[in-house]
Amino acid sequence: MSVVERQEWDVVVIGAGGAGLRAAIEARERGARTAVICKSLFGKAHTVMAEGGIAAAMGNVNSGDNWQVHFRDTMRGGKFLNQWRMAELHAKEAPDRVWELETWGALFDRTKDGRISQRNFGGHEYPRLAHVGDRTGLELIRTLQQKIVALQQEDHKETGDYESRLKVFQECTVTRVLKDGDRVSGAFAYERESGRFFVLEAPAVVIATGGIGKSFKVTSNSWEYTGDGHALALLAGAPLLNMEFVQFHPTGMVWPPSVKGILVTESVRGDGGVLRNSEGKRFMFDYIPDVFKEKYAESEEEGDRWYEDPDHNRRPPELLPRDEVARAINAEVKAGRGSPHGGVFLDVSTRMPAETIRRRLPSMYHQFKELADVDITAEAMEVGPTCHYVMGGIAVESDTAAARGVPGLFAAGEVAGGMHGSNRLGGNSLSDLLVFGRRAGLHAAEYAAGLAGARPPVDDIEVDTAAAEALRPFSAEGPAPGQPEAAGGRPPENPYTLHQELQQAMNDLVGIIRREGEMEQALEKLADLRGRARRAGVEGHRQFNPGWHLALDLRNMLLVSECVARAALERTESRGGHTREDHPAMDRDWRRINLLCRLTDPAAGPVPDPAAGPVPAPAAGDAVVGPITLTRETTEAIRPDLLALFDKEELVKYLAEEELYE
Ligand code: FAD
Repeated sequence: MSVVERQEWDVVVIGAGGAGLRAAIEARERGARTAVICKSLFGKAHTVMAEGGIAAAMGNVNSGDNWQVHFRDTMRGGKFLNQWRMAELHAKEAPDRVWELETWGALFDRTKDGRISQRNFGGHEYPRLAHVGDRTGLELIRTLQQKIVALQQEDHKETGDYESRLKVFQECTVTRVLKDGDRVSGAFAYERESGRFFVLEAPAVVIATGGIGKSFKVTSNSWEYTGDGHALALLAGAPLLNMEFVQFHPTGMVWPPSVKGILVTESVRGDGGVLRNSEGKRFMFDYIPDVFKEKYAESEEEGDRWYEDPDHNRRPPELLPRDEVARAINAEVKAGRGSPHGGVFLDVSTRMPAETIRRRLPSMYHQFKELADVDITAEAMEVGPTCHYVMGGIAVESDTAAARGVPGLFAAGEVAGGMHGSNRLGGNSLSDLLVFGRRAGLHAAEYAAGLAGARPPVDDIEVDTAAAEALRPFSAEGPAPGQPEAAGGRPPENPYTLHQELQQAMNDLVGIIRREGEMEQALEKLADLRGRARRAGVEGHRQFNPGWHLALDLRNMLLVSECVARAALERTESRGGHTREDHPAMDRDWRRINLLCRLTDPAAGPVPDPAAGPVPAPAAGDAVVGPITLTRETTEAIRPDLLALFDKEELVKYLAEEELYE
């Protein structure tokens, strides 16, 4: 038995982005001793990168806005597949979460009369995004961190110890959620710098680990986004919901190659930027789908007037939801009307004075100047779709953020599924992570308190198994096919090569436009990679060893990618962030169907991979598991008073026949 240090907490929050920090604050304020653990440096989470703003119907810029309008926009954006109760709670509670941030010290941009300013974004009927220039995420994280420090100072006054009730473990990665029977008992983690293992014992664990973008080659996501939380939940026995829905943001940088995928914020279009093809045409007018026709301008003149007078004009189609714009760009490039480097042109230089561009879009100005040597005040940017966000995620209960089927497990932020349906509107992630981060922290604290003295114990064997699994890459030498483990044989696989192959396969075969044959190929490739990843090996020692970290992350990316591919193959329609070339239409009957992925038997450990030939009995600590099973589930009927917020003619476009009848 290995000796692994253990600490006891009431609530462990995995992830220190917006969702994790908001959850931790709430749990601590509800009296739970709370530990936050994050892979990156504290304050460096992905949330920092958020640019455009936080969507909340405060009505500061247009008093017509309210939660009902926000709810409607969110449901339309998600093509009515949203977990409607989440969309309702989100629309109702987002304004309070923004005001609360202000009371904690956030400095938002202001309107002329001193209120929090709000900007336009795709799919939002009114200016709705509270923002700080194009650096909103930075201010959000700064404020939440400041709040955490303030709470720690309070604790110090009372107990003499800053970390007595709220402690941050930074640069530590969780590789397993531990369980006692069905219930959560803690988390197993390693320090990235030293390689030391440790266990945080806790009856409640909140997963807030963000997204999965690093499974794709072209992505706006940072290095942390390896789908860890999704995989941790699967391994703990919780299902993932609708993983086929992956958002490709329409505007990522396409040039130079080293920065391909980096995000160009939607605020560029919200503030007046337009998309043109190589012929100079504003092509988005040709791509307004029927369901949105009444709400978008028919001519450039009308679209341009909307910026000044939104009450009497319709918005320009550059502000359609992201999935529509991404598909349109893809089609233009495919038709040979793209920019020199395979994107299209996004122009603000002819639309605003240089001074305004530098003031309203400071990060974009610097990003293009420094990374591409392009002055966006003088010339157009070249942009194209980039993997940006995953709508699918851990299946949770709407009100409590509890993960389904695993008592003590909670999830919030990008890692949780349901809220955004098939497509997320810009700005709705920052509000989501505040609303549901708070709810997850609250319910995790209540759950832990409810157990009183009867805390699930951590099992030594489980800890040893987790340690063996984490150490396996150091002794990875695979047996030749058909040979016993002891016979040795094939050299270890390089984790970087495996990662590159995975990213290429996901980009090419399960990317923005999907086809049955290609997804079948992807699943074969994933099976091959899964077999080879069992032999992913590294040299050296445990002190800061990025190859080792990647070898461990591969398990997660492979699991999550398989879920994406399987669900994408199953859903034979196109909806939001899932476009099937062979099933191009949205099918109303599919609106009633959720797809759930589960690991067949997490407790049983690795399953032989037939593609890799005869497989020996699993060795201790074998890191790669499978397979994934997929089940269909009927979505819960939308509550009548929420349906009444829409015109019947609109509902006919989305709802199945029997739902309309009901
Ligand atoms: P994150 O902020 O990513 O935090 C995840 C945390 O989990 C990190 O601390 C990480 O270290 C930790 N972690 C991960 N795995 C492990 C592990 N195994 N063990 C321990 N810790 C782990 N959304 C908007 O609403 N508005 C915007 O304007 C906007 N702009 C964006 C701009 C860019 C460039 C990008 C990429 C995204 C943008 N988004 C925006 C989306 C939004 O930023 C994210 O969806 C959101 O920040 C996710 O927050 P989170 O708290 O769920 O996760």
